[in-house]
Amino acid sequence: MSDTAPSAKPAGSSPANTPRIVILGGGFAGAFTARALRKSLAKRAHIEVISDRNYFVFQPLLPEVAAGTINAQDAVAPLRQLLKGVTVRMGEVINIDFDQQCIEIAQGSKRIPAKRYYDELVIALGQRTVLTRFPGFAEHSFCMRDLADAHALRNHVLQCLEHADVTENVELKARLLTFVIAGAGFSGVETAGELHEMLDRALPAYPNVRRDEINTVLIQRSAHILPELDPALGRYAAEKLQKRGVDIRLNTSLARATGTAVYTGDGECIRTHTLVTTVGNGPTGLVETLQLPMQSGRISTDRRMRVQDHVWALGDAAYVPLDDEGAVSAPPTAQFAVRQAKALAYNIVAKVEGREGRDFAYKPRGTMASIGHYRAVAQVLGMRLSGLSAWLLWRGFYIGMLPGLSTRIRVALNWLFDYVLPRSIVQVNTKTTNAARVVHYAGGDVLFAPGQIVDGFYIVITGSLESRVPVDHHVDGPEGQLEDQPEGRREDFVRILGPGDHWGERSLTEGTRTFGSLTAVDDCEVLVLGRTDFAKLNQGLPPFSDYLQRIPEKIYPPALRNDDSVG
Ligand SMILES: Cc1cc2nc3c(=O)[nH]c(=O)nc-3n(C[C@H](O)[C@H](O)[C@H](O)COP(=O)(O)OP(=O)(O)OC[C@H]3O[C@@H](n4cnc5c(N)ncnc54)[C@H](O)[C@@H]3O)c2cc1C
Repeated sequence: MSDTAPSAKPAGSSPANTPRIVILGGGFAGAFTARALRKSLAKRAHIEVISDRNYFVFQPLLPEVAAGTINAQDAVAPLRQLLKGVTVRMGEVINIDFDQQCIEIAQGSKRIPAKRYYDELVIALGQRTVLTRFPGFAEHSFCMRDLADAHALRNHVLQCLEHADVTENVELKARLLTFVIAGAGFSGVETAGELHEMLDRALPAYPNVRRDEINTVLIQRSAHILPELDPALGRYAAEKLQKRGVDIRLNTSLARATGTAVYTGDGECIRTHTLVTTVGNGPTGLVETLQLPMQSGRISTDRRMRVQDHVWALGDAAYVPLDDEGAVSAPPTAQFAVRQAKALAYNIVAKVEGREGRDFAYKPRGTMASIGHYRAVAQVLGMRLSGLSAWLLWRGFYIGMLPGLSTRIRVALNWLFDYVLPRSIVQVNTKTTNAARVVHYAGGDVLFAPGQIVDGFYIVITGSLESRVPVDHHVDGPEGQLEDQPEGRREDFVRILGPGDHWGERSLTEGTRTFGSLTAVDDCEVLVLGRTDFAKLNQGLPPFSDYLQRIPEKIYPPALRNDDSVG
């Protein structure tokens, strides 16, 4: 069951006989493609953006959000306001059937599946930080991709300062005041610079923390920081950061991390509670499963951004060649994503109108990186700039790039206030999410309908639940024999779950959906262990996983024992 009837198929014909263009992702690439298409096609096409968050994030501002220069809410823009005239659907894309031209989405907090069909599909899903390359990084890293990452880092750093100010344990204090940033590309350098400035400006409020006790360490595998820029600018940025006390380790690889330390490739142990990882870009989980041609971890396209018939890709997610040999590709930057969006919209409009499209080509106007303390480095129109002038240029450039007048005004005001007012050191004590939650249901509430994705392991505390597997899913033999079954056997398999009983383990361990339903019989209280925590418990506690393996034969009739989809 899904929460929207699948839009009738489709190819070539949406109800109003207008092409249906579906864009996956609401970042620079997706949002700017949608805007450009809407401008050119207006009502001649149905344009829909599907994104797992309902806002556009201006990622280059995230280090400033983490440092408290910009309020979290002001570095983003709601997609619905930004994309007037475009249908915005919030949901996580979980699968694409290229033969049927159909996208599968999980919608809402219960991840209810829905389908959308397309005539033209644009994949603009960005990249993710792959943390599995080094042991311990997934568990102990902060990332810098989304608003939530920046918010979490800011609160953590302030928590470290608060604790460092009051602890008498010297060794713990040193760990709390050591901040390690892995990777010295744009995001690493900007994060290191902004974080260092934030710590500096916060110090007057922490009388027991001295400036020389703060240790910001920037680790880079290659011989230069900001390898995307001219080496002279990289050197300038490094000099400025070092002068301010940032400890830059060049030619240094990473090995692993624990809750209290980061280990480098040459065996050095840096004791810390804060690791920010900005290296290890890779395809998102969905892109990895699509079996599309890939190059350097990105979807391979031709010069017009075509992946295959009716499918296009751009932005960080795509390897868009800049020459005929495909040796040089567009770098994963916001500037390129915005340019590609305009070029891709042109090509889609050309296709709709039966014209020829054109190859993507773009020469960037410049590259800039802010290094905190009103300093930046920039390479613009062949000129190299550094210091305050580069910083002003950087701000002017990004103000111009921000989508929407209200976002521009808000960000400009944030910069102004930050210049004239002391920076806030409010640490928002976000409640840590418990591994398990308790949920109350009233009799008759449907917890799961057939076909849904199971989001956790459900344990009944009080009251009772009914688990029902429909008859066509548990008769012996192939489905075709169903008509031959005697009436008496054509009954659903029903199980009543009371206190201490549980549900969901089979779908979770086998990664399938439920074909059955789960309904509250009367008012009840249920403990729900989220799927990730359930997986960890299953992995880390052998008696628990042994117990789970014995469940099918304890509970289900023989016909259901090998069925992996009964909840
Ligand atoms: C800290 C930082 C600083 C940066 N600084 C600069 C800079 O100074 N200059 C510059 O040019 N570039 C900079 N960049 C790079 C720039 O931000 C990216 O190149 C740009 O965001 C790429 O845009 P995109 O739309 O391809 O991807 P994204 O902006 O990542 O957007 C991807 C979208 O897809 C959505 N999505 C992903 N998976 C799913 C799914 N399964 N279902 C539904 N939606 C999904 C995401 O929610 C998101 O909306 C920086 C990046 C970072 C992280």
